[in-house]
Amino acid sequence: MSQQVVTRIAPSPTGYMHIGTARTALFNWLYARGRGGKFLLRIEDTDRERSSPEAKDAILKGMDWLGLDFDGEAVSQFARADRHAEIALQLLAEGKAYKCFATQDEIAAFRDAAKAEGKSTLYHSPWRDADESTYPDAPYVVRIKAPREGTTVIADEVQGDVKIKNNTLDDMILLRSDGTPVYMLAVVVDDHDMGITHVIRGDDHLNNAARQMLIYQGMGWPLPVYAHIPLIFGPDGKKLSKRHGATGVEEYQLMGYPASGMRNYLARLGWSHGDDEFFSDAQAQEWFDLSGIGKSPSRFDFKKLANICGQQIAATPDAALQQELSIYLEASKQPALTDARSQLFEKAMPVLKERAKTYQELLEKAQFIIAERPIICDEKAEAALDIVSRGMLKELTPHLQTVSWVRAELEQCLNAFAEAQDTKFGKLAAPLRAALAGRAATPSVFDMMLVLGRDESIARLKDVAA
Ligand code: GLU
Repeated sequence: MSQQVVTRIAPSPTGYMHIGTARTALFNWLYARGRGGKFLLRIEDTDRERSSPEAKDAILKGMDWLGLDFDGEAVSQFARADRHAEIALQLLAEGKAYKCFATQDEIAAFRDAAKAEGKSTLYHSPWRDADESTYPDAPYVVRIKAPREGTTVIADEVQGDVKIKNNTLDDMILLRSDGTPVYMLAVVVDDHDMGITHVIRGDDHLNNAARQMLIYQGMGWPLPVYAHIPLIFGPDGKKLSKRHGATGVEEYQLMGYPASGMRNYLARLGWSHGDDEFFSDAQAQEWFDLSGIGKSPSRFDFKKLANICGQQIAATPDAALQQELSIYLEASKQPALTDARSQLFEKAMPVLKERAKTYQELLEKAQFIIAERPIICDEKAEAALDIVSRGMLKELTPHLQTVSWVRAELEQCLNAFAEAQDTKFGKLAAPLRAALAGRAATPSVFDMMLVLGRDESIARLKDVAA
């Protein structure tokens, strides 16, 4: 039986969840979930200044909103510092690492001299092969004994074989002179202890992989499969930044993008499955594979995101959408729907979800449900309510009292009324929209009337008809 897949996302807390981190998390989640594997979360909180509880929370919230459930508890890297140090000491005991007593001044002097001679400034510690009897009683760091000859090959599933000459790798520090472990060691020990089989992460970590491999080799641990994915660029081909638009996951949540649409769009950002653009989570899990990840950076396309989100909203069952909407209202600190409004939403959902790209757009279409009498008109709606149209609405109301409240009858009634007024239905529709919703752009007049019902519709017309 082949080994169970275990992936992870290992964000450093920065105060918010970057869209790139979200995509990396998604890839790891898809890969694990599609293979009956595990997906783990590790917070790389060794930088104590940035690692506030709020920063951790931002990550947890982002994961939760995106629906990327992880197995077990979130692991704190900082909490495992003793274990990281233990491994450094083991490498030391086995002669795969050594104590280096060089001072900062000595290292600086070495570099200056190397520069002056036009040689490599890669530090070669004189303590690498020193005899223990010569050790001074002084602070030291623990360095790994990196190979000086040959080549390290990162067999990367995305980048191919990446060859790094060993004479370009230094004896990196594992433990600082105060005994604290360095980040590079922590990552490897954590990945090993967490049983990570596949490291899928941004290609800004590709160079780290070569150095991290030295620790695996020193410990005789099996290497994970590496897949370094190209970073996300903005539409102009430069690394995605605030200049291009929102970069934080929460910002997208607050703008009202559905999480399903984000997952769908982010999955396509750097990965492809034929020409498929729109797909479900189940399809993405089934299809996702490292071989579908491209080698060049992908460009964030805001229009495409909106388009996919619109398709996802349209495809979401009404009841589920209603629930999503409630979550959105709470997250964006908008008033919750009363029971009465919820019922109207339920009725209107098939209409509301058409062509809405975000929940916010959906709510704007639902203005006729959200607004309360007397309806306040915006400027455009107000313009549709001149004296003539108000008179027309007044005359229309008695007809609405008697017509049977079904679409075909309503259509016929309004068309006949418009004809009798010697006008076009369009001329009648604008004041009706204004009266029913206080807006110029709304769902169809009939859809609104059917959702609101006879009494409420007539009451709204009467409010403006006088
Ligand atoms: N903590 C790193 C980051 O946030 C990721 C490290 C890794 O995936 O190995 O970029």
